[in-house]
Amino acid sequence: MEFQRRGVMLVLASPSGAGKSSISRALFEDDPNIALSVSVTTRPRRTDEIDGKHYHFIDVETFRRMRADGELLESAEVHGNFYGTPRSRVEERLAAGRDILFDIDFQGTLQLYEKCRSDMVSIFILPPSIKELRKRLERRAQDSEGTIDTRLRNARLEMDHYDEYDYVLVNEDLEDSASRVRTILAAARLARSRFLQLDKFVKDLQDQIDSH
Ligand code: 5GP
Repeated sequence: MEFQRRGVMLVLASPSGAGKSSISRALFEDDPNIALSVSVTTRPRRTDEIDGKHYHFIDVETFRRMRADGELLESAEVHGNFYGTPRSRVEERLAAGRDILFDIDFQGTLQLYEKCRSDMVSIFILPPSIKELRKRLERRAQDSEGTIDTRLRNARLEMDHYDEYDYVLVNEDLEDSASRVRTILAAARLARSRFLQLDKFVKDLQDQIDSH
């Protein structure tokens, strides 16, 4: 039996270098029903980023206008730049039963909890060790934002928030972690709150008993 359902808002968070982007990529590759929520940001574009794909790059004035006009579902300042989630695309996808992945920080996650808790499932990804985290940060060619040590200090702060998430994953192996995220997503898709015509279905079953 297939019911129509609302989409899932899947929030993935982690300190930078814990493997969140690789896990997201693995998800997108084999699941056409989930897409990234493309945020707006006032941060300058990095050379390997595409406007409209990784972010919508906007100036501070445009950001302020969008926020004031209620066009952002959540927003936050992270490392001195503004970020926000455009509201309209999220609402359209959820209503159409399509899932959406959010790569946002803990401040944004808390705002989404206040507005859309029943649509959401959230996962915090941890590195298996600091040795591994440091290795991953060093491997990133274009880490111009501060030194590895600054990034590690930020990672330490971000880790304070692990207990605000529904699930925590220690990312030892990319394929294994991606598979766990797929499992969490599969369960979230089946949550009762997501099915749109369940009331009517149950009522019909009861009516059939009553009319016997
Ligand atoms: P980066 O500039 O390295 O792409 O992202 C820096 C941080 O900002 C990451 O922790 C990322 O999850 C977070 N971030 C990206 N987009 C958004 C957004 O729309 N809202 C919030 N709250 N955080 C975001």
